[in-house]
Amino acid sequence: MPYKDVEKRKLNNRNRYWYRKQNNLCVYCGREALLGIIYCPDCLIRHELSDRKCYRAHSEERRIQADSERERRKAENRCIRCGAPLIEGETGYCFNCLIFRHEGMIKGVLSEVNHETTTIKS
Ligand SMILES: [Zn+2]
Ligand SMILES: [Zn+2]
Repeated sequence: MPYKDVEKRKLNNRNRYWYRKQNNLCVYCGREALLGIIYCPDCLIRHELSDRKCYRAHSEERRIQADSERERRKAENRCIRCGAPLIEGETGYCFNCLIFRHEGMIKGVLSEVNHETTTIKS
């Protein structure tokens, strides 16, 4: 019996969700939602905050996963970024990824320079 109740509640929640969404009401509290967004300002902020918290928790998980993936690739002598098999003379990254990393660094430096010049100007 409790199982059925849960199912019913789920269905009700979903119906309410759609009803509110279609009537431009906040899907959390039923107040008037912001245009084009399914939350009222209050719930939007709350949702954003919890989302960010959630994201942080997940990113930690993802980081650990990525770490183990990198270790595996290193052990198999593959590029730790894209997983392509490395040829002789390549360590860690394949040629493409090396360039990619390099470009990223150059861009990073450039944006720093730009930032400095704009701050000096203003
Ligand atoms: Zn709300
Ligand atoms: Zn690569």
